[in-house]
Amino acid sequence: MQPTPPSAPLTLFNSLTRSLEQFQPVHPGEARVYSCGPTVYNYPHIGNMRAYVFADVLGRTLSYKGYRLTHVINITDVGHLTDDADAGEDKMEKMARASAQSIWDIAKHYTEAYWADIRALNIRQPAHWSIATDYVPQMIAFAEGIADKHCYELPSGLYFDVSTVADYGRLARAATEEGEGRIEQVDGKRHQADFAIWRKTPPGEKRQMEWDSPWGRGAPGWHLECSVMSGKLLGFPFDIHTGGIDHREIHHPNEIAQNQAFCCTNGLDVPANSGAKVWMHNNFLVERSGKMSKSSGEFLRLQLLIDRGYHPLAYRMLCLQAHYRSELEFSWEGLAAALTRLKRMLMAVGQLKERAPGGPAAAPGPKFAPLLERFDAAVSDDLNTPIALTVLDELIALKKVDPAEKLAAIAAMDAVLGLDLLTLDRAALRLRPKGAEIAEVEIETILTERKAARADKDFAKSDALRDELAARGVEAMDGDPLGWEWKLG
Ligand code: AMP
Ligand code: ZN
Repeated sequence: MQPTPPSAPLTLFNSLTRSLEQFQPVHPGEARVYSCGPTVYNYPHIGNMRAYVFADVLGRTLSYKGYRLTHVINITDVGHLTDDADAGEDKMEKMARASAQSIWDIAKHYTEAYWADIRALNIRQPAHWSIATDYVPQMIAFAEGIADKHCYELPSGLYFDVSTVADYGRLARAATEEGEGRIEQVDGKRHQADFAIWRKTPPGEKRQMEWDSPWGRGAPGWHLECSVMSGKLLGFPFDIHTGGIDHREIHHPNEIAQNQAFCCTNGLDVPANSGAKVWMHNNFLVERSGKMSKSSGEFLRLQLLIDRGYHPLAYRMLCLQAHYRSELEFSWEGLAAALTRLKRMLMAVGQLKERAPGGPAAAPGPKFAPLLERFDAAVSDDLNTPIALTVLDELIALKKVDPAEKLAAIAAMDAVLGLDLLTLDRAALRLRPKGAEIAEVEIETILTERKAARADKDFAKSDALRDELAARGVEAMDGDPLGWEWKLG
């Protein structure tokens, strides 16, 4: 029996039009998605990772709806300045100087750390990880193509003249003064919003990363890389471009301006040539005490959560519980609650697996169709994961149904949610703070002995075994509603 095909129309919120639009792929049956990736000068914080959980849910939803997905995430290893506009210095160069390491070593180290977080959060691998420094010749060629009509040269670099494209900044909807107020002035710029396409190395200086170009030795501007890599790997126009909400203000309007210039060399600089048809932005994860920022000493990295004993998928659950366009406030209590919810789900799955030793059925039967339809409607409604999760809760609570079919229905939903519900081992969710030394096999053996003693009503022995556990810092949890047998005391 075939599962109910997901048939609700997929609607997504397009930041360009500030409205929900039905998804219409550029190439029938395909979905091409580009996500702005991290600047690898430091570890990503958990807020950054929210952006990739969002992009992953989008990708999984597109796959689940039957589209053949090509997803690209870039790695920014050059060009991103300490200010998103043209002020400050290159984040990579700055970190390299501060840590007396080569930029290439820094990029490698933090790219790997980012990829570890990607795996830990069960984010699917994109078709391409595009690395900015691999595309510098293409960036120079792109800039050469638009330089005559859209750019002008200053001693500090080649600048894009935003007045040469139609409707600059419509993505930001920034009253121009407000947008411009935040941009530091560079001598000679024609408009405050003009931005660097190529940054010349100042005379007498040497940067670790620099290349020859028609505008002298230097490095590309940050916005250029995303225009070039998205265009090369996905072709203009492609379907969806994603990033955090901060990118709606400067980075993406500038990418769009470049794409317009590149797509219409005949002077037809129309807004339709924005590169991507749909621009989607996740809202921020916020943390009131300011621990999130990379510049604060101990910032909120995924590894910190893991060190405090939280499974990384509890963080994924936390993200899914909020709609991606809502701000999400981080708290340890919220994370603990998300972990509990995940535990309950895994406990239910564990019981189903015991009842269905053959694993999930090939497909869920018709009994599950109404719930699967509601799940489909939720994720198709601009990725409404909070509602989708409540439908999953209802599915889990469903009684008197075939366990193998129920597992198949859970698997179908988890293909979108990515909580790893069918394979994650419940024991892996146990709080296990860094530094806690426990011999798990021995603990399991004592627990089994103790169960047998209790079954034999040998309470003296059972109590003695409980004391032995306590001596090892382990508290036996009799009658725990989550079926948790022990925890660290
Ligand atoms: P960056 O490495 O600074 O270029 O940021 C990587 C991604 O994380 C971008 O898409 C940002 O828009 C996004 N981002 C940055 N801070 C947050 C946050 N607090 N919550 C959610 N997304 C964020
Ligand atoms: Zn980008």
